[in-house]
Amino acid sequence: MRVQDITSLLDRLAPPSYQASYDNAGLLVGQPDWSIEKVLVTLDVTEAVVREAKERRAGLIVAHHPIIFGGLKRLTGATYVERVVMAALEAKIAIYAAHTNLDSVRQGVNDAIADKMGLLDRRILAPEKGDLLKLVTFVPTAQADALRLALFEAGAGQIGQYDSCSFNLEGTGTFRAGQGAKPFVGAVGQLHREPETRVETVLPKHLERAIVRALRAAHPYEEVAFDLYPLANENPMVGAGMVGRLPHEMPELEFLALLKREFRVGAIRHTALLGKPIREVALCGGAGSFLRHKAIASGAQAYVSADFKYHEFFDAEGRILLADIGHFESEQFTIGLLCSMISEKFPTFACLPVEKDTNPITYF
Ligand SMILES: [Zn+2]
Repeated sequence: MRVQDITSLLDRLAPPSYQASYDNAGLLVGQPDWSIEKVLVTLDVTEAVVREAKERRAGLIVAHHPIIFGGLKRLTGATYVERVVMAALEAKIAIYAAHTNLDSVRQGVNDAIADKMGLLDRRILAPEKGDLLKLVTFVPTAQADALRLALFEAGAGQIGQYDSCSFNLEGTGTFRAGQGAKPFVGAVGQLHREPETRVETVLPKHLERAIVRALRAAHPYEEVAFDLYPLANENPMVGAGMVGRLPHEMPELEFLALLKREFRVGAIRHTALLGKPIREVALCGGAGSFLRHKAIASGAQAYVSADFKYHEFFDAEGRILLADIGHFESEQFTIGLLCSMISEKFPTFACLPVEKDTNPITYF
């Protein structure tokens, strides 16, 4: 196995283009063609984690948090970040991070949190806008089935839990082939009328190149007529946070006890109890206070996240129970998520969940 076998798989499941503008996800240390025996999966990369990777012969560390975040100007060993990068390079260990891109996908960080609460009817709390394109193309009706199949295989036509979505309209195309052309139908210099199908489908922006390549490869015409339109729709499969319904409504204290138990939290910081049962829960792994107003607007009775500041708790204003369960605690199941993503594709390849606890916070 090579580093790129793992990174290209993760890039497909959590496309780097979905990372926030401030983020630095992707391959951070090492070369894509380095050969590896094992991969170590962790939330954070510390010096102890690099030592563990070396001891367990893992040539690649897959992390949630990017160790190089704001840029590195020197490598002198003065900070833990510099020492981690130096130690990794010395041991020829590559480091890859799937961060806010893994937060943003439907089967990502937040889905793993929702699993622990047993939430049903999950949806993205703040779906991404401007991520979808519409593709319209015109193909001889006899070739329409094969063309649609090629587009769907390349990732077009996915709407929520449905795949192979398209709309098709029969019509007539006209063209006249010029000198030097080799028309699929019709003759050079003669106006031709061909029964064609107008195929419409949708795609996420990050697949545009791959899908246009598949379109050109599968379409019989020398010159392929197609249009790409930007859509103002939200993409329900991509965005920040998540909302879902508990299998049974429960009193607030029982819900907080569930969080404490399932997420092994030392202490939960939360707003005053409202005396209302919890049915719908909004959540966001890691620092999710930026979604608190969206969580309130969603109608959920509780918002579970981490890193709330003092003044942000005031914004609840009796409309929602804000619960801060800790950054590490909320994201800890991301390790299992990344391992299962890797093991599902490469069942015989050794993917090791980190043994070292990297949570920098302890509770007294
Ligand atoms: Zn985080």
